[in-house]
Amino acid sequence: MEKIILIKYGELSTKKGNRNLFINLLDRNVKKILKGYEIVIKKDRVRMYIMIDNKYIDEVAYKLKKVFGIQSIVLCYKVNTNSEDIQNKVLDILKNENIDQFKTFKIITKRAFKEFPIPSMEFNNIIGGLVLRNTSLKVDVHNPDLKVNIEIRSDGTFIYLNEIEGNGGYPVGVQGKGLLMLSGGIDSPVAGYLALKRGIDLECLYFESPPHTSIMAKNKVIKLANIINEYSGSIKVHVVPFTNLQEEIYKNVDGSYVITIMRRMMYRMAERMLKKLNCKVIINGESVGQVSSQTLDNMIVINEVTNVPVIRPVACMDKLEIIRLAEKINTYETSILPYEDCCTIFLPKHPVINPTLSKCLEYEKRFDYESLISECINNIETISDLNDNDFENVL
Ligand code: ATP
Ligand code: MG
Repeated sequence: MEKIILIKYGELSTKKGNRNLFINLLDRNVKKILKGYEIVIKKDRVRMYIMIDNKYIDEVAYKLKKVFGIQSIVLCYKVNTNSEDIQNKVLDILKNENIDQFKTFKIITKRAFKEFPIPSMEFNNIIGGLVLRNTSLKVDVHNPDLKVNIEIRSDGTFIYLNEIEGNGGYPVGVQGKGLLMLSGGIDSPVAGYLALKRGIDLECLYFESPPHTSIMAKNKVIKLANIINEYSGSIKVHVVPFTNLQEEIYKNVDGSYVITIMRRMMYRMAERMLKKLNCKVIINGESVGQVSSQTLDNMIVINEVTNVPVIRPVACMDKLEIIRLAEKINTYETSILPYEDCCTIFLPKHPVINPTLSKCLEYEKRFDYESLISECINNIETISDLNDNDFENVL
């Protein structure tokens, strides 16, 4: 009995004007995620159907759980739209599927094809009677263990049991691109995931300071990018050689201001790259109050260097909430690997928590940061094809 995959769109189906754009992007994203499988996709305004060799149907359904813009994934059977065929198929399905685990059921008929001669309620009763006579299931219309869904359409009827919950959100790319400041920590990969969920595709910017930071630290970031790339398929990582600029900061800036100035430099470089890469916003993993550079006073002084909108998806989440999400999306294990980040090397004992802008400007006058920034930008290394790298072996 051949099954096909039916996809119910998420929030996108409520956006009338953009519907085609949404559906076409979802189609593109599904194809990207299922690269390598032979599939046929058919789509209409409310549904997408994926035909695939049933050998792969479970693993493909699992992969689809990562695609944003999907409300639910349904493995369903298709029959001709006539009462007898539908009844026979329902019996076949109940024989084939493992229904011993269920005690109660409900039939849910949706008659999209109004020329089908039997009204939905009446058809519920016909099929319900059939199930009662042929199984030991009992009816429970309020809280059934098993839902038997029957969608009657002109081009065929779809029958399916329970649905698999999709990932929700909007198709990645529908909002254009954002530039994610990706460190090896716990927060920024989660921030990236949340941005992807709202339809923002990503390019990533990582500041490294060799030899103070190791190749392991870099590989860890690439591994994290790889993990969140499972939700996108087109993420790139731009690695900025930050060492010279960072060393100049340490030479010229009072210890308490080092982190604040370093972050102002990061934002300046992020803005330059954003323009170059056609991104619309900067995204990062700052969380209010989490560390001293993330007090509101620090964030204000740091943000002062740019007019570009900065989205901070985890700004108001507790660390434990962020960790839970990191575990869910599978980045946590990698994030807690112990390699040093450029923010943690030379960490001052007492970073300022309420910096003033005038002090920042005073420190920044002491060295020619503009040319150092240009040097950083000109020497960026871009990693484009994340899927081609096997970093399990590198870490
Ligand atoms: P994370 O857990 O994401 O590392 P954090 O709590 O360690 O965050 P910070 O080190 O202050 O916080 O960094 C705040 C944000 O700045 C990070 O979430 C990330 O978006 C960005 N950031 C920090 N270091 C780097 C880096 N080396 N490269 C790119 N972005 C960085
Ligand atoms: Mg960090």
